[in-house]
Amino acid sequence: MQRYFVNEQQKDQTFLLGKEDSYHIQKVMRMKVGDLIEVVYQGRVFHCLISTLFPLVIAEISSEQQEDRELSISVTLVQSLVKEQKMDYILQKATELGVCAIYPYQAERSVVKVGEKSDKKRQRWQSIVKEASEQSKRNVIPFVGDVLTLSQLCRMTNYDFCLLCTVNEKEEILKKVLSKCQKGDTMIVIVGPEGGFSEGEEEALQEVGFLPVSLGKSVLRTETASSFLLSAIRYIDME
Ligand code: SAM
Repeated sequence: MQRYFVNEQQKDQTFLLGKEDSYHIQKVMRMKVGDLIEVVYQGRVFHCLISTLFPLVIAEISSEQQEDRELSISVTLVQSLVKEQKMDYILQKATELGVCAIYPYQAERSVVKVGEKSDKKRQRWQSIVKEASEQSKRNVIPFVGDVLTLSQLCRMTNYDFCLLCTVNEKEEILKKVLSKCQKGDTMIVIVGPEGGFSEGEEEALQEVGFLPVSLGKSVLRTETASSFLLSAIRYIDME
């Protein structure tokens, strides 16, 4: 069943869908009055019947579903800025795999500079994670933050686990770190750009408490690193 996220519930136990979702239901899915859809509101999942199609779709609650597909560890990914297509891919995969929030980071060696276009980019990124959340049937849409600078990132240490993925680390492997995690823990993970972190960045981040961590013996592409990490967390979540 097709899933849609809404921000508001009407007083009469119905949901009014937005313009884009209404268009999707009317023109792409070619649904009719009486068809069933899933609506997610504040993390709760409802089966709803379409009662009105035009101009905007109205869906009536038929039942609430007790389902939670979220990871038991809340993971915030800080992804160094990379080229558009790679960034889109990372956002999509991280969302499918259960990330809670994503912050782009303007790393020293990021070849892409967002600059003045950051609002437009952020909107685009937010719509990618919304679609990926619907497709993967998440209960929540991950938050996409503003592009961070190093000094902003250095202040983001209010998590149970603060990890810096670096190819320079050999001893502290991910498996060791994950064995210490418990349900409900929060984790922030930083992944470098194609050219890796500079020495200065690694030093600054370690100084404020980020733990350097290895993702294994191979050097992974930046777009593989977050998927590998989130897959590992998802795997331990299944035990
Ligand atoms: N030559 C670069 C360097 O020296 O860092 C390689 C960068 S790698 C292509 C991109 C990013 O993915 C790294 O900065 C790191 O965050 C992450 N990464 C890739 N492989 C990793 C590994 N085996 N362990 C930890 N992090 C890794």
